[in-house]
Amino acid sequence: MDVISNDTLKSLIAVELVTILDVREHYEYQKGHIPGSLWIPFSCLTDCAGFFAIDTPLIIICNTENRSAAACRFLESEGFTELAYAIPGMKYWDGELEVEQCPPLERGTSDKKGVYLDYAATTPVDPKVASAVWWWLAKEFGNPSSVHLHGRKGKEAISKSRQQVACIIGSRDDEIIFTSGGTEADNTALWGVLRASGRKRLITSAIEHSAILENIKPLKDAGFQVTVLPVDTYGMVSATELASALSNDVGLVSIMFANNEVGTIQPVQQLAELTHRFGAYFHTDAVQGVGVCPINVDELQIDVLSLSGHKFYGPKGVGALYLRQGTPFSPCLVGGGQESQKRAGTENVSGIVGLGVACHLAHQRLGEAQGIKRLRDYLEEGLKSMCDVIIYGHPTQRLPGNLCISIPNYSGHQAVLDLDLAGISCSSGSACHGGKPSHVLQAMGVSETKAKTAIRFSLGRKTTETEIESVVEELGRLFRKYIY
Ligand code: PLP
Repeated sequence: MDVISNDTLKSLIAVELVTILDVREHYEYQKGHIPGSLWIPFSCLTDCAGFFAIDTPLIIICNTENRSAAACRFLESEGFTELAYAIPGMKYWDGELEVEQCPPLERGTSDKKGVYLDYAATTPVDPKVASAVWWWLAKEFGNPSSVHLHGRKGKEAISKSRQQVACIIGSRDDEIIFTSGGTEADNTALWGVLRASGRKRLITSAIEHSAILENIKPLKDAGFQVTVLPVDTYGMVSATELASALSNDVGLVSIMFANNEVGTIQPVQQLAELTHRFGAYFHTDAVQGVGVCPINVDELQIDVLSLSGHKFYGPKGVGALYLRQGTPFSPCLVGGGQESQKRAGTENVSGIVGLGVACHLAHQRLGEAQGIKRLRDYLEEGLKSMCDVIIYGHPTQRLPGNLCISIPNYSGHQAVLDLDLAGISCSSGSACHGGKPSHVLQAMGVSETKAKTAIRFSLGRKTTETEIESVVEELGRLFRKYIY
């Protein structure tokens, strides 16, 4: 455990070599903090330390040397090795300071325990998000519907988050309805719009997520008709197919933005434009797209859109439905009139704040997609050089981090287990639902036997070249062991 001066700390910050952990209490912290520092009040450190994996040396900063040293000792006992604290500390800090609503956190989502390549299933919560959620969970508690100070604070936080969500998809703030995630947003889109549209038919596609497809039977039972469009071998919905299925009795067309298994990105704008010609509304399940691809609801002519926080470094169990102003809508959850009478229930304020921060960060980081794609292509090339892999999904219109493959004669389920033993987390493109082969691959014309060999790798912002190399090496080893 080292002690460094404030001046040394300043020079380390300048070259971005360290993570700064500010352990001052909330009343001290509010006065201003070092930009990019991670903040866990000393009083909460014992509860929070386990949630952060830091991949650079950690410098503790506080108002008193006593607390800095105690924080260092505690973190040392937790297994952190590269530790120091700065003196005289924040009380005499004369460098850059910033003051904002949410504690700023920058570094530290990397998982030192292995290689995580399952970002399409979920993403690690960004420390900035975690800290904002924590703040609104632990420090604030008002019911946003209350008129007093506590309630007003919650209401303001929700309204800020609404702006951040609206901003990432280019909508108006009042077109965002917070939900409990992508599944609720999808269900609400289908039932909420169809029931109010005065029309009886839904058009969707064969490769949608179960949050859409599982509604088909209940919708039919309720008297709606449903047309399911086929896809081509890349998993792409054809505009011609949609055009011939459309008629004036269609209330809603629901086609996903990008597929969660094979990553194919649909020609949403073209499909939406066609839909509008028949006076129907266009919904897209953009759970895999928001935070990864630039999406503007006006440019793409989308009327209704689903998104989910945990797919882009936000919390699980919180998402949103975008509903273009003027779209007919009948609420699915009724009660207290929250969300402008569109989704009743006391708001999940901490989750909503986390979703807002995640949208804000994802918007700033959209440019990272290029680097992720480069690593995905590197993985693809590495695997191709190893054996005759089959690559699923569209060659160009594909999510940057998605790589869904088959290694002939090697069960996808077995591969996931074998890779897990080697510390690599990915998912089986098939067999996800009770051993049944993927409905997506089957819709693309892949045989049941081949679909059972699918493996999905999904890369994210923490994926490194070394990790990709280790995956290629490990799969090569497994391939030689099991296939030859
Ligand atoms: N839609 C798609 C395309 C998804 O990938 C998922 C989650 O995997 C969902 C909907 C469901 O979202 P959530 O997990 O937030 O309910």
